[in-house]
Amino acid sequence: MGNLEIESNVLEQMSMREHEQILFCTDKATGLKAMIAIHNTVLGPALGGTRMWTYENEAQALKDVMRLSRGMTYKAAISGLNLGGGKAVIIGDSRTLKNEALMRRFGKFVDSLGGKYITAEDVGMSPIDMEYIHDETDHVVGIPESLGGGGDPSPVTAYGVYMGMKASAKYAYGSDSLSGKRVVVQGAGHVGQYLIDYLVEEGASVGVSDIFEDKLKEVTSKHSKVDVVDANSIYSQDMDIYAPCALGATVNDDTLKELKCKIIAGAANNQLQQEEKHGQMVREMGIVYAPDFLINAGGLINCYSELEGYNRERAMKKTEVIYDTTLNTMKYADDNNIPNYMAANQLAEKRIEAIGNLNKVL
Ligand code: NAD
Repeated sequence: MGNLEIESNVLEQMSMREHEQILFCTDKATGLKAMIAIHNTVLGPALGGTRMWTYENEAQALKDVMRLSRGMTYKAAISGLNLGGGKAVIIGDSRTLKNEALMRRFGKFVDSLGGKYITAEDVGMSPIDMEYIHDETDHVVGIPESLGGGGDPSPVTAYGVYMGMKASAKYAYGSDSLSGKRVVVQGAGHVGQYLIDYLVEEGASVGVSDIFEDKLKEVTSKHSKVDVVDANSIYSQDMDIYAPCALGATVNDDTLKELKCKIIAGAANNQLQQEEKHGQMVREMGIVYAPDFLINAGGLINCYSELEGYNRERAMKKTEVIYDTTLNTMKYADDNNIPNYMAANQLAEKRIEAIGNLNKVL
């Protein structure tokens, strides 16, 4: 019953969060159950990945797809891209439910939107799944280089995070040099490892934590000067910069009691456990927080580049702009005495409004 109640006010939920359209997809033959949410297309087609997840119920899946698609609108807007925000979820266990027919059926649903929604890989999806979807629609990005795509976006994401971190240093210390700064990276995964390469190259003192030994080994065997930090005591470390590159919600009531850093800048999504509360807290504590959706947009910029005919060099150049955007956002936050995350949100909204107004004139 609870589910029905929530689902009975879908349109109300959509209008509350200003969603344009949600496509509900089912297919009995393949067992596909999916939702494609288009939040906003003022700036361009709605781009966002497809996530496959074992949601407890449909209401949870709906909530997630609405939240994530809205986030994509803001990420694209603050990054200066001509893209709107969208996201898709496939309900089910990615280890057992996947097969070619299901993915291709999903691809047909994506195609039915005629390019209004462009999909990409997200949690629970793999490159082969994206290839199946691509068999049915051209509206896919993040496909392998062999198929003319941009391939793994992680190096580009890492470069953007590095740019955002340097801009944060410029704001906090007056110089963007990270040489001699103590940076602790949480998560030696795809993005974390590329980020560490940049930090070591610049002469930062780098610590890294991960829950898997082999990930740590990969880093320390490449960079002898990088030291391992215990994953459980990472927040109380002496550090200038905390770089969350693993999980969301690591900036919260508990960790803020321990964190002594000057800057938080990393790749993880949704770093502030409660945006309003913890965004305000970090500002009051004098910690410079680089908004996650702003500095981790390199992956999205990489996807966007595919739409223009992929070129890695151009994607990196576009990603470099994150440096200026981060500084501008921090200045706007100061001018308006608001937390940095809020400044980024407001700047994104202003851009959507300004560009939207252009459509009203010939
Ligand atoms: P990944 O899965 O390759 O790496 C994450 C790493 O974090 C893994 O090595 C994992 O073992 C480690 N980890 C998990 N829990 C941990 C903990 N408690 N302490 C320390 N380490 C822990 O993921 P990724 O692609 O490198 O992405 C990292 C983060 O950045 C994710 O939150 C992701 O959503 C976000 N992000 C990634 C991209 C991208 O292009 N890959 C783009 C935007 C945002």
